[in-house]
Amino acid sequence: MDKSIFVTRPSMPLIEEYIKEIEPIWKSAWLTNMGQYHNQLEKQLVDYLGVENISLFTNGHMALELVIQAMNLTGEVITTPFTFASTTHAIVRNGLTPVFCDVNPDDYTIDITKIEKLITDKTSAIIPVHVYGNICNLSEIERIAKKYDLKVIYDAAHAFGVKINGQGIGNFGDASMFSFHATKVFNTIEGGAVTFSNSKIGKQLYKLKNFGIQSDVLVDGVGSNAKMNEFQAAMGICNLRHVTAEILKRKIVVERYRERLSGVSGIKVINDAQEIKSNYSYFPVVFDEKMFGFTRNEICDKLGENNIFARKYFYPLTNTFDCYHGRFDVNATPIAQYIAKRVLTLPLYADLSIDDVDKICNIILDGYQK
Ligand SMILES: *Cc1c(COP(=O)(O)O)cnc(C)c1O
Repeated sequence: MDKSIFVTRPSMPLIEEYIKEIEPIWKSAWLTNMGQYHNQLEKQLVDYLGVENISLFTNGHMALELVIQAMNLTGEVITTPFTFASTTHAIVRNGLTPVFCDVNPDDYTIDITKIEKLITDKTSAIIPVHVYGNICNLSEIERIAKKYDLKVIYDAAHAFGVKINGQGIGNFGDASMFSFHATKVFNTIEGGAVTFSNSKIGKQLYKLKNFGIQSDVLVDGVGSNAKMNEFQAAMGICNLRHVTAEILKRKIVVERYRERLSGVSGIKVINDAQEIKSNYSYFPVVFDEKMFGFTRNEICDKLGENNIFARKYFYPLTNTFDCYHGRFDVNATPIAQYIAKRVLTLPLYADLSIDDVDKICNIILDGYQK
């Protein structure tokens, strides 16, 4: 039987490299609480991401939940439903009401022409998503935020290392959240970070991730616990050494997919925008069954029969989740719904071979009539 191909496969250092990295921990016995590895990784990420400030977390979701809390938001937050559960849950778990804006059909980021109509006197922030590493319309979001005095927090979970006109993507809005989950372009096993411009936010984040403890005798915030530990940080330090090479390998995979699949009628792939340095994090394909002849589900099943596991990512939309049943008008985001029903993210990781990419494309195109 052929080996299975999964949608993703974590980037990992050689085991020897990781063991060498963590050996000193047995001498120091310092396992967590902003240790040496944590601080070293923080410095290295400031460099790599080209940002001023960063705060590390135990995972991306807690980073997002706590940065929302740090901003003292109230009422309503404008966001999109075409995202991972985390984005919407983080808003709701802060006692805020998500107001869903549709996405644009070109790159599935927030449709900037539809944001202003959703703003009410209760709106306090916009939380857009750089979905698949596709970058939102930063200047238009900034203009709207300024005009209505709203905070902007980007869910940049997919956008590690992405640059726009040479500038790190973590420099926009009031803050950005990155995820270092095993399945992301850069991982610390589990992990995440917030990048931010205002150092006051940094102080708030520190409080929130460490019980509000400032010193032995001073606890001045009702904080949570979301610190990154030393083993996570050490994994990050190892993976960061290789991330540029891993992204280059991903690029080769993506280019092959594009070569095989662009121009096929009924298949939409996204190309790189000129001003963007991409991280090639995902390869989403949207199937228009009328033109292509097969539905997304048919293609997904056909790949599955060949032990190739693509993912319906993102389906279902977060505003249709069972836990939110009856709370949101799902017809308010028709483009997001259209895409969610037709999108498939194809297997993509640094070590996916070109032969495997060809095999995947052959299965997708099998039976397709020009
Ligand atoms: C992965 C992800 C998150 C959450 O990050 P974790 O590190 O898994 O907690 C949030 N938003 C999006 C869009 C994601 O893909």
